[in-house]
Amino acid sequence: MTKVTANTRIDKISVESTQTLEPNLILPGSTLGILGGGQLGRMMAMAARTLGYQISVLDPDVLAPCAALADTHVRADFHDIAGAVQLAAVCDVATYEFENVGVELAQTLADAGKLPQGTSLLAATQHRLREKQTILGAGGWVAPYWPVRTQADLTQAAAEVGLPMVVKTCHGGYDGKGQWQVKSTAGLASVWQQMVGSLPPDMQDIRGMQVWEAPFVAEQFVPFVKELSVVVARSQAGEIRTFPVAENIHQDHILRFSVVPARIADEIAVKAADLASQLATSLNLVGVLGVEMFLTAQGELWVNELAPRPHNTAHYTLDACATSQFEQHVRAVCGLPLDQAELQTPVVMANVLGEHLPLLLNHLSNWPTRMKLHLYGKAEARRGRKMGHVNVLCDTPEEGLQALHSLGIWELADLVHTTVSHNC
Ligand code: AMP
Repeated sequence: MTKVTANTRIDKISVESTQTLEPNLILPGSTLGILGGGQLGRMMAMAARTLGYQISVLDPDVLAPCAALADTHVRADFHDIAGAVQLAAVCDVATYEFENVGVELAQTLADAGKLPQGTSLLAATQHRLREKQTILGAGGWVAPYWPVRTQADLTQAAAEVGLPMVVKTCHGGYDGKGQWQVKSTAGLASVWQQMVGSLPPDMQDIRGMQVWEAPFVAEQFVPFVKELSVVVARSQAGEIRTFPVAENIHQDHILRFSVVPARIADEIAVKAADLASQLATSLNLVGVLGVEMFLTAQGELWVNELAPRPHNTAHYTLDACATSQFEQHVRAVCGLPLDQAELQTPVVMANVLGEHLPLLLNHLSNWPTRMKLHLYGKAEARRGRKMGHVNVLCDTPEEGLQALHSLGIWELADLVHTTVSHNC
């Protein structure tokens, strides 16, 4: 097993060759296929429709948020190759809205010449160990980590990366699900029980499993001062545009707010944008990529996660940028040139979860001016479920946070007066 530390920076290698392609131009009027019919697919579809494309979506759920905007709906599971064949028959080009669609299914579209993004980055982001190797290979930094297959591996991980550490499932975890914090060696046994209990029965036998197929990864707890993200777009011709850096606030592992511009020093913003561009080039990206980062007190940026699709932390671009992340993604996938990504006004984005929605709708007359509501058309408003988001356009981030705070729906009293400190 190789110990991977903060100092292990592999020379730049790429997932695919970094050569650029002649753009395969898919003109408006053609059909865009979208794998996945959630809110990201829906907002992609809206941008594509505005540009004049038709939409075909693949999703098993008849009530998928994107289905209402699609001309055709292929009702199939995200691993159903027959469904992919059906989608390929009705679309001119395709993309995916989330990273857990089956790689084989996506490859079916790639083999038909209809997935300009390819499947390498998709496959890399489906497993946290592959993802970390990919980030290191592309010249980024990640927290020291250790693959975990057994309880003995977990004990060793504590020694290798140090405590406290964060243990995560390598496949399929989101919004803090499949994640455990270990603060002391006394807690290892009970965390191990919870980890094993979280695995589907067919994954509980780890005999013969290769290290890089490990179901869990333990990583050093990063004492970050802020969580940042950059969404970067790259066209088929190799043109790159980064959206402004977002400062992200999570509560209970769910993204609550994105503040833009991030309250960080200018040189950190430049460094974050350069890092995202470097990853985009090295990974031969087509479309948009969300790069989640931790900013440390020393001014270092550690990459936490990559998302090769539009990202929740860039929903602010819908109202605050010259071009939204969704339009930029559609442009890239369809071989069109990218458009400008500059911020036109400061903005605070707040996610509208199930518990917020009735309160928000009951406060219609109190809404601040320049608050833009985006709802995803989901029928059932469950607690913690992302129902939509609001973008509050403002003159300063503090003013936007204050406007949201005054609604009394979100917990953000502590966030209103955060200032820019020396390194962040
Ligand atoms: P993830 O599922 O990897 O996006 O993690 C969800 C959230 O958990 C992140 O946004 C952080 O707030 C926190 N987190 C994840 N990994 C770490 C880490 N290594 N150190 C500190 N906090 C972390």
